[in-house]
Amino acid sequence: MSDDCCSAPAAMRPMEEALELLLSRARPVTDTDWVDTGQALGRVLARPLVSPLDVPPWDNSAMDGYAVNSADLPRGGGALRVAQRVPAGARGQPLETGTAARIFTGAPLPEGADAVVMQEVCARDGDWVRIEAPVSPGENVRSRGEDLRAGGRVLEAGTLLGPQHLGLAASLGMSRVLVYRRLKVAIFSSGDELVMPGQGLAPGQIYNSNQFTLHGLLQSLGCDPLSLGIVEDSLDATCAALARAAGEADLVLASGGVSVGEEDHVKPAVEKLGTLELWQLAIRPGKPLAFGHIGNTPFIGSPGNPVSLFVTFSLFARPFIRRMQGVVGDVAPRSLWATADFDWPRAGIRREFARARLENGDDGQPLVSVHTSRSSGVLSSVTWANGLAVIPENRTLVRGDRVQFIPFSELLT
Ligand code: AMP
Ligand code: MG
Repeated sequence: MSDDCCSAPAAMRPMEEALELLLSRARPVTDTDWVDTGQALGRVLARPLVSPLDVPPWDNSAMDGYAVNSADLPRGGGALRVAQRVPAGARGQPLETGTAARIFTGAPLPEGADAVVMQEVCARDGDWVRIEAPVSPGENVRSRGEDLRAGGRVLEAGTLLGPQHLGLAASLGMSRVLVYRRLKVAIFSSGDELVMPGQGLAPGQIYNSNQFTLHGLLQSLGCDPLSLGIVEDSLDATCAALARAAGEADLVLASGGVSVGEEDHVKPAVEKLGTLELWQLAIRPGKPLAFGHIGNTPFIGSPGNPVSLFVTFSLFARPFIRRMQGVVGDVAPRSLWATADFDWPRAGIRREFARARLENGDDGQPLVSVHTSRSSGVLSSVTWANGLAVIPENRTLVRGDRVQFIPFSELLT
């Protein structure tokens, strides 16, 4: 059955409003860990990184060539005696007037030199070098502190550390960085029809795929997932799972059972143990989203349909988690615009996040196609896709229109 429905749009919360509300409730962790710089990928910086030194620490050569004092070559060229050799890692002697130093990329500029002439425009003859081109002061010199200044703020607290940030910290001599502790996120899947992979399937049963999707999504965000397995569709079992999860984790994520049918026990269970808001979101797939607290532990419940789970996690749980991890700045996924390679003939009342694929067209222009299935149960459509196309509410599209596209790289990291 289609998960589209005929609810009045007024009863549905627009996505922006729901996300804003959710993010306003996210409390960032405050505990910190010192971790080796080499182990800090994906962690969040807990205090600003201040440079203890100038980078580069001294003027140095940007080229293999000859270090000179440009004043020794007044008329755009001349011959100089090569009085020393300065490879990277060495320290030269002060440059005597009328001499040049053979120098290599990264080597410190000898005192008295103010330029490096690249070897391609030099002719070496024994102890002498002829320079044919004019030389200006500062040419091919990387000056001290041109990248970073001692005492300057290099990275802000709340920065999500990528490989480039680790390299930068290491370039400042830092062997460890202070980061926020990792989030522990409990996950459980509600549904009497669910069995774990590895077991046989009896009639009426399906495999619990959501636990694996969620586990992977959490790992890709640098969280520690705690899988609590399958929870039967009863109020008692749901309450027990919630209480345990809330006691052990920073955040509880549940899949399934968030609708308001008689087999859906998440809503009454959260209401019994804590507070709950159940939102009907004006998006498709993924209409119901449950958000609440058990004590101080936040709870997010997504629909059990595997595609709805993926989409609601990506659009809502992921930014919430980023905030809880201490990330500062924009946490919503960024999108781009590309050309639609499909028609969308039927306008919907909810904004649709269609499983889509971005590819380079013949002329190199990015083209977006969408999967033929719009069913929220067809997980293979998500493995076919490399992003989500955003179809605005009340809109149709024809091939050639511009369409907004959110790449999975924005959702899975
Ligand atoms: P529910 O949200 O519990 O009404 O479930 C909606 C649909 O998603 C049903 O077809 C369920 O069988 C399916 N479903 C629920 N939980 C899971 C799960 N953990 N893995 C795969 N499918 C699920
Ligand atoms: Mg169910």
